Amino acid sequence: MSISDKKRYERPMIKKMEAGVPNKFGLRSEYTPMQEIDGVSIKQLLKDYGTPVFVLSETTIRSTFQKAKKAFTTRYPKVQFAWSYKTNYLDAVCKVFHQEGSWAEVVSGFEYDKAINNGVSGKKIIFNGPDKTENDLVKAINNESLIHIDHLDELYLLIEIADKLNVRPKVAIRVNMDTGVYPMWDRFGFNYENGQAWDAINKIMRSGKMELMGLHTHIGTFMLSPNAYAIAASKLADLAISLEQKYNHKVKYIDMGGGFASKNTLKGAYLPGTDTNPSFDDFAESITTALLNANFKSDEMPLLILETGRALIDEAGYLLGTVIANKRASTGKRLTIMDIGVNILFTAFWYDHKITPAQPFTHYTEETAIYGPLCMNIDVIRENINLPLLNKGDNMVVHYVGAYNMTQWMQFITLRPKVVLIDTNGTPHVIRENETNETITSLEKTPQHLSSFNL
Ligand SMILES: *Cc1c(COP(=O)(O)O)cnc(C)c1O
Repeated sequence: MSISDKKRYERPMIKKMEAGVPNKFGLRSEYTPMQEIDGVSIKQLLKDYGTPVFVLSETTIRSTFQKAKKAFTTRYPKVQFAWSYKTNYLDAVCKVFHQEGSWAEVVSGFEYDKAINNGVSGKKIIFNGPDKTENDLVKAINNESLIHIDHLDELYLLIEIADKLNVRPKVAIRVNMDTGVYPMWDRFGFNYENGQAWDAINKIMRSGKMELMGLHTHIGTFMLSPNAYAIAASKLADLAISLEQKYNHKVKYIDMGGGFASKNTLKGAYLPGTDTNPSFDDFAESITTALLNANFKSDEMPLLILETGRALIDEAGYLLGTVIANKRASTGKRLTIMDIGVNILFTAFWYDHKITPAQPFTHYTEETAIYGPLCMNIDVIRENINLPLLNKGDNMVVHYVGAYNMTQWMQFITLRPKVVLIDTNGTPHVIRENETNETITSLEKTPQHLSSFNL
């Protein structure tokens, strides 16, 4: 036995019972340390790329995607995924999805250009979002992208551009609706129940200036109810069939948006998300059954598009960090301070992230609060977690962080870390460098009169 294998000594102690929130596994959630990702040592990753560091598993991205794809293609004849750029738009990540056959789903001019620069053909870009500028629209029309209209002002602007440039935009409308899940998302697109969606369809069809390609909805995010998707799919199918009756026009696709829950655990949930959240099969069953039951002719089933984001990437992402210090709150509660703050773990506001020590530990656990390094009271990673004791310099793995953290992260107080992708052969690649002072100050300009001072 080498010195490093030796069990760590902990002095015996008597401890008052503390009532944590029990789950069906008891109070303890972690039994073994996590020491590698896809065969790569976590300690080595931290040594090579610094702490904290985001790590993505290409193997997990691909296998999760294939699982999702299979859930739909085994149930429905025509399926197309479009990668939601805002969920994680690092080019390397987008390209893994494009290699798997995903189109691009973008919600801004910035994301649109990113997809074009990644080599996605304009025809395979779905352009959502309320803020498309005239320039964005002209570019998208010329590239024959699929423009999903959000509001009437956009619809009229498209008619104006179509007239001016003598072009025929390919469009869909975004529809919002009551799916039995509240609060209802009704700020995007046109409402189904109150007739707005029909107003938009009539305006498009009667103008004769646009090609109505599809119907789109995105009913919410981190949805835990597959049935909500069944309701949404039936409503879009109804619209499509009525549209055919009224105008003898068939839409080519029905786009069900994103929103499937990932394996994360929402704050306040009683059981871990890995046990309770619906699977791809559950969502696929609801959506495809609704479409198969609708009155489409067999040879005229619309293409089913899915813009799944978080459920495809959350599990592939890890955030590795280091314990800075331990202290006690005035109540005696153990506080552990890590070098991971909410500036890079934005999703800590919604999730109780699973956290695992990255080195062997002893059996003793204690109710602990995990704080980040920012000088801010809201910098809380876990308010309450039962963890083995961690010492200064120990490492931890935060799980399921692949979605949104690398797009919503903030440069606040400190700099953003590297992002590393472990490829399917187990080789790590830096896919985004860490920021430096120079990254930030290169954007700043100091007026001449502020260039010097005497203290
Ligand atoms: C954000 C978004 C998605 C992806 O949503 P997830 O909840 O990450 O699956 C898909 N479509 C649209 C229009 C979006 O805005």
